[in-house]
Amino acid sequence: MTTGERDKVDGVIPPASDPAAARPATSTDGSWHAITAAEVVAAVGSDEAQGLSQAEVATRVERDGPNALPEARSRSLLSVVAGQFKSPLVWLLFVAAAVAAALGEFSDAAVIAVVVALNAVIGAFQEGRAEQSLRALRKLAELQARVVRGGSEALVPARELVVGDVVVLEAGDAVPADARLLSVASFKTAEAALTGESLPVEKSSEPLPADTGPADRVNVVFSGTQVVAGRARAVVVAIGTATEVGHIAALAESGVVRETPLERRVSRFGRVIVAGSVLVFVLVNLVGAIRGLPWLEILMVSISQVVGMIPEGLPVAMTIALAVGVQRMAGRNAVVRKLSAVETLGSTSVICSDKTGTLTRNEMTVTTLVLPDGREVVVGGSGYDPVGTLLVDGAPAEADPAVRALLEAVTLCGDAELSGPHDEGARWRPVGDPTEVALVTVARKAGLVPEDVRRAEPRVGELPFDSAVQAMATAHAGRVLVKGAPEVVLGLCGLDEAARAAVAARAEALAAKALRVLAVAEVPGGVLEGGLEPLRGRAVHLGLVGQFDPPRLEVADAVSRCRAAGIRPVVVTGDHAATGLAIARTLGIAGEADVAVDGRALGAMSDEELTQKIHSIAVFARVQPAQKLRIVEAWQRSGAVVAMTGDGVNDAPALVKADVGVAMGVTGTEVAKESADIVLVDDNFATLVAAVEEGRVIYRNIQKAMLLLFSTSAAEVVILLVALLLGFPPPFAAVQILWNNLVTEGLVTVNLVLEGPEGDEMERPPISTHEPLLSRTILLRMALMVPVIALVVLGWFAWRTAAGVPEQQVQTEAFTLLAVCEWYNVLNCRSERHSAFTWSLFRNRWLVGGLVAGNLLQLAVVYWSPLAAVFHTVPFEPWVVLALGAVGSVVLWVEEARKLVVRLRAAR
Ligand code: ADP
Ligand code: MG
Repeated sequence: MTTGERDKVDGVIPPASDPAAARPATSTDGSWHAITAAEVVAAVGSDEAQGLSQAEVATRVERDGPNALPEARSRSLLSVVAGQFKSPLVWLLFVAAAVAAALGEFSDAAVIAVVVALNAVIGAFQEGRAEQSLRALRKLAELQARVVRGGSEALVPARELVVGDVVVLEAGDAVPADARLLSVASFKTAEAALTGESLPVEKSSEPLPADTGPADRVNVVFSGTQVVAGRARAVVVAIGTATEVGHIAALAESGVVRETPLERRVSRFGRVIVAGSVLVFVLVNLVGAIRGLPWLEILMVSISQVVGMIPEGLPVAMTIALAVGVQRMAGRNAVVRKLSAVETLGSTSVICSDKTGTLTRNEMTVTTLVLPDGREVVVGGSGYDPVGTLLVDGAPAEADPAVRALLEAVTLCGDAELSGPHDEGARWRPVGDPTEVALVTVARKAGLVPEDVRRAEPRVGELPFDSAVQAMATAHAGRVLVKGAPEVVLGLCGLDEAARAAVAARAEALAAKALRVLAVAEVPGGVLEGGLEPLRGRAVHLGLVGQFDPPRLEVADAVSRCRAAGIRPVVVTGDHAATGLAIARTLGIAGEADVAVDGRALGAMSDEELTQKIHSIAVFARVQPAQKLRIVEAWQRSGAVVAMTGDGVNDAPALVKADVGVAMGVTGTEVAKESADIVLVDDNFATLVAAVEEGRVIYRNIQKAMLLLFSTSAAEVVILLVALLLGFPPPFAAVQILWNNLVTEGLVTVNLVLEGPEGDEMERPPISTHEPLLSRTILLRMALMVPVIALVVLGWFAWRTAAGVPEQQVQTEAFTLLAVCEWYNVLNCRSERHSAFTWSLFRNRWLVGGLVAGNLLQLAVVYWSPLAAVFHTVPFEPWVVLALGAVGSVVLWVEEARKLVVRLRAAR
């Protein structure tokens, strides 16, 4: 391999000036840190201000490939088919073929080969479907990066970055590739994922000594780390496998598809089955020997039976079930980032949800102002249309100096704007944080023009809003303005105890009416240095602002669905406890007995105390992001499976710790999304509930496939053993058993996982994580199905044998009847309680198609002479076809009767 080729593989362009040695290609052995920003930009052939041109990007993508770590290589059809031959199952079949050849049954040997091939084709086809769905999943989970290309900023999928791209990084972003910093503004990153260092690292853009170790290269940012503060520009120097994290990934086995817990359980379970089939093998041979049957024939039959018992279709069925579930969830606005979340969703028993934007619409309207002298201003109008009156005791208050002072302050101490008026539709467009847009709106209602107010008193310094501080401050010539949670702002005011208590009581009263409350204060002559602390005691209270955020319409319904489904909804908010509780009551999340606990009280509680009380807490208020983690842990200690929502950088630990971490698609930072298992495209609580429902559907579907698989295998074993014990010859030829298990069954089992919801998923408790795969219900159903199938087939077999029908014909009939029973049983397995006679069957086209194909193949194997010859079948008369159809239907009627009883009992 030439150097050129290697570089191509690594996706790195060697610095242009001296490609030979001086500046090696990757960032690991590279010395990007030792040269100046301008030199780096030149070396990667880029331009700091303009970025790369679109044409240049296209060339580089073509040359270097995507900015991605190697995925499970998408395999060629041939290798997928070849993969089918790796299983021990196939080797068993080859043994069977050898035995057949030893018996002189060369056609049997050939048939086994054909069945193996057919099975491989079906298996490869199903696996192909699974892989395709997984690929779609990866696409959904893509992260975004902000780049400068052709002089303008754009958001592109991180996958499409190339070396030389100039990226813009902000607090909350995930670093999408290894990049050398060009300029920074109090820029810090968290590199724990890479270095294990838990403290944020302060970054710079200055060159460093050439011998600086990789961990200390503070002028380089690494893919896989996160920006926790500030802003920076950087130029990409390595992508994909050439990044630091890429090297690590290459060390750890790359390209291995991770199994989900459920998949692991299933494969462990598969090993138990294999052990069971060994037992069956011994039993069949033993009984055969006792009965004095020809042992080579029995050996072949037993090998076929063992092959039949191996649930080789199950792993593929699982993958398809999960992947299809992911697609369905995407259709309902929930993007799954980690496959394992799908199954965990079905077991979720507690949902901890943000309030603002998730339960509510995040469309704030100021409804009330409270002036320092205690007068209350009622604000008319709704939404962001700045029309509405301000009234105090029924009299207009727009011109009141106290009102104007308050509204000027909130306008200055905020960044939002109302753009407009526009002509069409929504005349005014909100720009910025809704809490602040609402403030600008009320200012306009009072006749203030925000632009003019801001021009008159320019900002000279600021402390941006931080939900950990719950306040924001701005500095202007001669004064500092502060707005934020009343507890914080009033603490800064030089009020006497009684006055402070009075204002706090007013704030509490507003909060109890579900309003979000801000207190506003001014520090005359103050400057902003060293945070809010130096201002303590010097601020003058300017008033309170109460704003209403209407609940989302669909949430009340989603909450009651949660309750019916045994899921506990909990509100976790930065707002005041009273506000949170009022909204929670409106939405049905909190009942009379439920309480709200605020961050301070939470901080004072020990872990034990919290775990003890957690069941009665419906609202966590004034929560610091870091406290979310404690809430998750407390619920987990009490045995719950917890979903937790979050949007900020600080939420990441809680999202990772939660069983299902849920990030907001609209307001969420890239960091939150990266840490989450699923992302809600519309930030909506109802979407999360829909995802839970899909999770339950998927789990049930997997159980349905298992029920079908195991009930038929078990029935076959029972039929075979009982027949031999009763002194009959084997009811099926070895090749017929193979045909049944590998062809007929393969066509339907997998498709059972594509069943749609039954409609009552959300009327049952969450699926326990301790529930065994073969749950009690499944075992009980098998206890009914297996004897019925065995009786039907054995009954027919015994009756026809007694009637003197030739052995080969009886075998053909029994073999076909077994398939018929299995088809009826597919219909049984579609639901635990509902009748099989529903139109929803026709919505599962794959299942219907599988049934039709199975019938046609069975007809072919009986009536088409070349196939009939090799499968030892004899065509039977048409009446027999009808009779088998009718007799086999007993399997259906028995289950229908059971289901009817279950439904009647439930109705009582
Ligand atoms: P949440 O999103 O859960 O409602 P936040 O952390 O955004 O919680 O807000 C917590 C509190 O901080 C609010 O109740 C309010 O008092 C205050 N607050 C919210 N947004 C701003 C802002 N832009 N400026 C000042 N204070 C704010
Ligand atoms: Mg917020």
